[in-house]
Amino acid sequence: MKDNPEIIREHNLRVTPQRELILKLLRESNLHPSAESLYIQAKKRYPCLSFNTVYRTLDLFEQKGLVKRFDVGENIYRYDGNITPHAHFFCIKCNRLDDMDGEFTDLIQRIGKDAGLNYDVKVTAVELFIQGICIECKRG
Ligand SMILES: [Zn+2]
Ligand SMILES: [Zn+2]
Repeated sequence: MKDNPEIIREHNLRVTPQRELILKLLRESNLHPSAESLYIQAKKRYPCLSFNTVYRTLDLFEQKGLVKRFDVGENIYRYDGNITPHAHFFCIKCNRLDDMDGEFTDLIQRIGKDAGLNYDVKVTAVELFIQGICIECKRG
């Protein structure tokens, strides 16, 4: 696995300790944090970090393709450091957003391929979101 400074450099960005930390936090977690919760985490390491810096860094990372972001209906963006195709499950009770790997990855790739062929379009992304109630919330 490539290290974080290497990934940042490969995307033609200058490596700064803040950028390194934000990417590290995103790649080490699969909780798909919002900018706000990433800011809270990052601030523990860099107390003078501003929310604006975190937000601008995330924006830049997203534009350059280092991370993905999506709004699952909460009217906020959640960020994902895993840019390989995978499905997500969103719990409507506790708002957790989990990865669903495995067979869905093949399905996503097939949908992208079929959409391109059948509709003569260039597919740049396929997102699969499954919504419902997670195991823990089901237990109540
Ligand atoms: Zn839940
Ligand atoms: Zn994910």
